[in-house]
Amino acid sequence: MATGFSFAIRAEDGGARTGEISTPHGVVETPAFMPVATYGAVRGVSAPELRAAGAQILLGNTYHLEERPGSELVAEHGGLHGFTGWRGPWLTDSGGYQVTSLAGRSRLDEDGVTFESSIDGSRRQLTPESAIAIQERLGSDIAMVLDECQPNGTDPTATAGLRAAAERTRRWAERSARARRRADQALFGIVQGGTDLTLRRASAQAIAALGFEGYAHGGLGLGEQPAMRADLVAETNAVLPAASPRYLMGIGYPPDLVDAIAAGIDLFDCVIPTRHARHGVLFTREGVVKLRNTRFRRDTAPPDPDCDCATCAEHSRGYLRHLLRVNDTLGARLASVHNLRFYLRLLEEARGAIRAGRFAALREEIRALPVR
Ligand SMILES: [Zn+2]
Repeated sequence: MATGFSFAIRAEDGGARTGEISTPHGVVETPAFMPVATYGAVRGVSAPELRAAGAQILLGNTYHLEERPGSELVAEHGGLHGFTGWRGPWLTDSGGYQVTSLAGRSRLDEDGVTFESSIDGSRRQLTPESAIAIQERLGSDIAMVLDECQPNGTDPTATAGLRAAAERTRRWAERSARARRRADQALFGIVQGGTDLTLRRASAQAIAALGFEGYAHGGLGLGEQPAMRADLVAETNAVLPAASPRYLMGIGYPPDLVDAIAAGIDLFDCVIPTRHARHGVLFTREGVVKLRNTRFRRDTAPPDPDCDCATCAEHSRGYLRHLLRVNDTLGARLASVHNLRFYLRLLEEARGAIRAGRFAALREEIRALPVR
């Protein structure tokens, strides 16, 4: 167990649980949503604004930060906590997903992933060991192991590919655990296996046997049906140690979040609230508001009359629509603040509902929202 890291469950309601992850840089009340700060910032939103919106922990992308400005430079500034305005807890991903999906041509073998830098085209390699070393320089409170994520498929050859990826992920997890040097950084293992429940359960067992501080569900959100994903997560959680935090990576819409919370998930991250905000799509408890729609031109109402965020306190839908139309970055900024508050408040409500033993009612309400 990493120094300064612990997880305590405070209340349970069915499969849902609420608790606290303690890190060297503060406590995270769970279930929690992590805004995505790709290059060490949630695009356009300052650390004080994130705090005001209720953020407790941010996610930084290792691949992007290593490309620019580089983990060595971040380390010179005292890691992410010293370099950025966010002094609270940080989680970093391993960079594997971005390397295989965003970088130039990438090739994966037992050693790691070789890819072309998107900055200068040079050939680079990301291995389980280098992913740990980079994250240790970034100084995040929670690091993730390098894993191999295979697209989901239904034909037998795809199953063989998924099995090979899950097995390689286990071997890489072992190497990641051995590569650790920092005592003050937690490390989470990742479950793979696509949409094959047998594979996912076997992967969960093998990863749990290695004894990480927390566990993540990888390789989901790649086109599978939400109901199927919720089942996979619930069934796989039954195999993972109940006393460790569980993280569903990269998911999702509000109904996906409440389904996953019901299945026992404690941590989330997703680009949906900020990406949708930049496109003028706002989340509200009535459904989504698409600001590009002409009917909002004369709308003097706040983006969400039920919302307590700084954007909704001072601005109208008509004004936000105007800012987005003239491409003023303030429009994207204000919309991001609102959408983040919507997500973070939903998680606050979920924690309260679990403590009060009425999470099922909140889940039904959110599942009924037309927000996809
Ligand atoms: Zn708002």
